[in-house]
Amino acid sequence: MVFDHVTKQYPNGTVAVDDFHLDVADGEFVSIVGPSGCGKSTMLKLIMGLEPLTRGSITYRAQARDESAMTGMVFQQPLLLAWHTVLDNVLVPSTLQGRAQRRADEPRARELLAMLGLADFAERHPYELSGGMQQRVGIARALLHDPRILLMDEPFGALDAMTRDQLTMDLLDIWERDRKTVVFITHSISEAVLLSDRVVVMTPRPGRVADVVDIDLPRPRT
Ligand code: ADP
Ligand code: ADP
Repeated sequence: MVFDHVTKQYPNGTVAVDDFHLDVADGEFVSIVGPSGCGKSTMLKLIMGLEPLTRGSITYRAQARDESAMTGMVFQQPLLLAWHTVLDNVLVPSTLQGRAQRRADEPRARELLAMLGLADFAERHPYELSGGMQQRVGIARALLHDPRILLMDEPFGALDAMTRDQLTMDLLDIWERDRKTVVFITHSISEAVLLSDRVVVMTPRPGRVADVVDIDLPRPRT
């Protein structure tokens, strides 16, 4: 994924992203880190196409033409449907495409739940799960259609420290298995350094990138 001189100016004049340039290799884990208001959410909206760019472009590599599963998205809140089972929540993207698709995708959904340690919870409901487990359901849902790029917006933001550490390890595990391109948005520099190949550091002044840092630390093993 290539960010080519990406600039976003809102109609009220605020420049939230200013001439951002980055070449993300396939399979790379990139974090975008910075304090509240620095432009992280805006960047995410631009990647997802929810806001038009003012200047520049965001493009995907040639092989990534399969639009159906370009990006999977994990939000700060897992946004689960309370009255549906865990399995049904993972299968929401399939259900939207009809019963046949749901049936076809069920084995994959169960496999993802197993991978995330939730095999025994497939028939339970979200309220029976801890916050960390709920977030895992959100991750399974994002991975269901095997997206090329996994976008995560403060996925651990609402979790306590211990749950966060465990989920961080799980995420590393998944990433090492799948080698997906991950764009991880966080205000936590320690999370960013622990997880990433590269950290894009944004300054408190909106839109400004202070530095892009290559991380060359051995990753902790689970
Ligand atoms: P965060 O991304 O850190 O959770 P928010 O997205 O809620 O924070 O807001 C970040 C900043 O962007 C805040 O200062 C907020 O006032 C501002 N903001 C968010 N949406 C709008 C909007 N539609 N118009 C103007 N300012 C906005
Ligand atoms: P972050 O996610 O890092 O908190 P945002 O991308 O939400 O940062 O905001 C970056 C800057 O853009 C902030 O100054 C914010 O107030 C401004 N902003 C965000 N959304 C809007 C909007 N819709 N209209 C005007 N300004 C906005």
